[in-house]
This record gives sequence, structure tokens and C-alpha cells, in this order.
Amino acid sequence: MSDCLFCKIVAGEIPSKKVYEDDKVFVFWDIAPKADVHLLLIPKVHIASLNELDESGEHDELIAHAMKLLPRLAKEQGLDNGFRTIINTGRGGGQVVFHLHMHLLGGNNLPGFE
Ligand code: AMP
Ligand code: ZN
Repeated sequence: MSDCLFCKIVAGEIPSKKVYEDDKVFVFWDIAPKADVHLLLIPKVHIASLNELDESGEHDELIAHAMKLLPRLAKEQGLDNGFRTIINTGRGGGQVVFHLHMHLLGGNNLPGFE
């Protein structure tokens, strides 16, 4: 999608601090980290939000791949005590960038929902 910030990051048109990339996903540091570790995992294909996933199963393999990558990335960042994943969906859910992304947070200064 031509006017999407995260599509531009995937395409290398906007710089990012890349952590990992494969044929399906791209992982980079959040520009305004809310914790010691704050990564964003995004699909390379443009999917606006979780609302775009439907029963067709079109993206099932991609989503499973992304979910399974999270603990691996957390481990690589040294988050042996655990980590938090957040997916904001829609404006009411706090979503600001409308390209599906999974926040991976960990370490000290973790924002809490307690
Ligand atoms: P959300 O509120 O779930 O849509 O989160 C969007 C996230 O994208 C925020 O945590 C922002 O700090 C982050 N963000 C915005 N622009 C950039 C950028 N150019 N590079 C990295 N992260 C960004
Ligand atoms: Zn996009």
C-alpha cells in the first residue's frame, strides 16, 4: 500500500532499526520504545489490522509464523523472564498505524495494565 508507513519501512523507503527479516515478516525497533526492549513485528504484506483476517484462512500460515517467532525474538533480546505482546486493533483499541503489528515488550519499565 503506497501511503502506508510500515509498507515503506518494509520497502526500505523509510529507515528502521531492523532486527529480523524473512520472506513473510519484518521486525524492527519501535521508534519510541515504551520499555527496555520494544520491537514491532509486521507482515510484509499489507494487512490493516486483525479486523482484516477472515475465515478464508488466507493469512493463517503467516499469523502462525509470526506468533511462533515472538518467543524466539524475545530470547534473542535476553528476555528470559518473559515478555509482553500487544496488538492494538482499531482507533478504539489504540491503533495508530493501520498496518497490522505485534508489539514485543520486555525488560525494565514495562508498561503495566495491573
Ligand atoms: P499502535 O498504537 O499499536 O498503532 O502503534 C504504533 C507504533 O508505531 C507506536 O508504538 C509508534 O511509536 C511506532 N512507530 C511510529 N512510527 C514509527 C517508525 N517510523 N519507526 C518505528 N516505529 C514507529
Ligand atoms: Zn502497509
